[in-house]
Amino acid sequence: MTENNELIRSSAAALAGKLAAREVSAVEVTQAHLDRIAAVDGKVHAFLHVNTDEALAVAAEVDAIRAAGGDAAGELHALAGVPIAVKDLIVTIGQPTTAGSKILEGWHSPYDATVVKRLRAAKMPILGKTNLDEFAMGSSTEHSAFGPTHNPWDLDRIPGGSGGGSAAAVAAFEAPLALGTDTGGSIRQPGAVTGTVGVKPTYGGVSRYGAIAMASSLDQIGPVSRTVLDSALLHQVIGGHDPRDSTSLQDPLEDLVAAASIGNVAGMKIGIIKELHGEGYQAGVENRFNESLELLRGAGAEIVEVSCPNFKYALGAYYLIMPSEASSNLAKFDGVRYGLRVLPEEGPMTIERVMGATRAAGFGDEVKRRIILGTYALSAGYYDAYYGSAQKVRTLIQRDFDAAFAKADVLISPTAPTTAFKLGEKLNDPLAMYLNDVATIPANMAGVPGLSLPGGLADEDGLPVGVQLLAPARQDARLYRVGAVLESLLEAQWGGPLLDRAPSLTDPALTGSALSDAAASSHGGSH
Ligand code: GLN
Repeated sequence: MTENNELIRSSAAALAGKLAAREVSAVEVTQAHLDRIAAVDGKVHAFLHVNTDEALAVAAEVDAIRAAGGDAAGELHALAGVPIAVKDLIVTIGQPTTAGSKILEGWHSPYDATVVKRLRAAKMPILGKTNLDEFAMGSSTEHSAFGPTHNPWDLDRIPGGSGGGSAAAVAAFEAPLALGTDTGGSIRQPGAVTGTVGVKPTYGGVSRYGAIAMASSLDQIGPVSRTVLDSALLHQVIGGHDPRDSTSLQDPLEDLVAAASIGNVAGMKIGIIKELHGEGYQAGVENRFNESLELLRGAGAEIVEVSCPNFKYALGAYYLIMPSEASSNLAKFDGVRYGLRVLPEEGPMTIERVMGATRAAGFGDEVKRRIILGTYALSAGYYDAYYGSAQKVRTLIQRDFDAAFAKADVLISPTAPTTAFKLGEKLNDPLAMYLNDVATIPANMAGVPGLSLPGGLADEDGLPVGVQLLAPARQDARLYRVGAVLESLLEAQWGGPLLDRAPSLTDPALTGSALSDAAASSHGGSH
């Protein structure tokens, strides 16, 4: 266990180094993570499916190539043999894809998403598929049809959403890397509340082919990791043009790994977004945010204030555009083509009635709520008033970003207004749940890239706080540059990675029962 503990706590970059130096085999690395999943996932529930045999087979292949000297011949990608978890919204051959929904029960994709093909080309063992809010609709993973994921910092709390499974898997050392999708914050907000790193790339920077669409004009696939450099390494694997995605950018991918290694921010202008902090943000979130600003200032960055007055309409416009697109995208789940089919209990067996019975039984409440909202916003009499106005707001948000980026190279804000809330706390209050995404949604509305990294622990509750960096479209490299510098300044202050301080994870002999003890003690509020 001790040796495994060292492996599961290693960053992807460190694992790649150990593999290249033949200090460890890819099978050992993959097995260590599978063992960890077996030990803790009963409590965390980050995974919906564990892909044991295939992951080990890919790892064995990497070891065989290396043993035959193939690495020297350039046959192995730098991340070959480094395992990864994949959000279950992304389709994979050979494993189920559920989108967290009963409606896809039993469905197997006949094709791989482009990002999955790229992981396979790099020979990264895929550990399994991670839990999510149904069709990525939510901020807590509680809307999964298969039960919630638990935050490894406190098992009674949410791991964020919709990509809570990917974030929790990485935070609980079940995987060094994961893929997420971000439509309104589903990579960044889970990163914030689990003390991990998450990146939403520029819209079009990573192929969406094979990501089950929620809102196509907002969705992006992106990396989840424990370090900024690891996200850059993964981004480099999955990014770049894909002819199968008509919105895919043509530009060659920048060298993001080099950007994460520059090591200074001197002379860069960093803009605080006036509208995205202060009132409505938890005090501990605000305090950690201010500390990050001080560190960046100390490192020679110029901190300026920018105003984005239309951001206050972003959430409202998002909850018209996103459900509108989702209502159309989800029309294909009709009981005929994919997964579940439910026959009406009585009456005529028409196609409409089969669709109705299937969708009534297959979709959860949140999905139904959004389909109804979306079809209403798109209906003939209301299209201009709702959908049309929301699209105009979207343009105003883009203009706010343009004006802000004329004054600053990178923008900064807290990632989420609060730390992880308790499971169940906001489940019956959709508006309170939606508010958790106020700071992340503007980036999706404008297509700009965003990165969330751990900013420390909130004073009130000892839970992780996220700091968000935003850059102009196609300038993802700036996020990695500033993110890596801020991360190293913060870790120097903390004396190591933030995750070393997760109460349920500090025990080196951690087992499933140790985790449940941690959960039991957190009932007493012992943070
Ligand atoms: N939490 C947001 C929502 O519920 C964002 C979801 C996402 O990014 N997939 O829509």
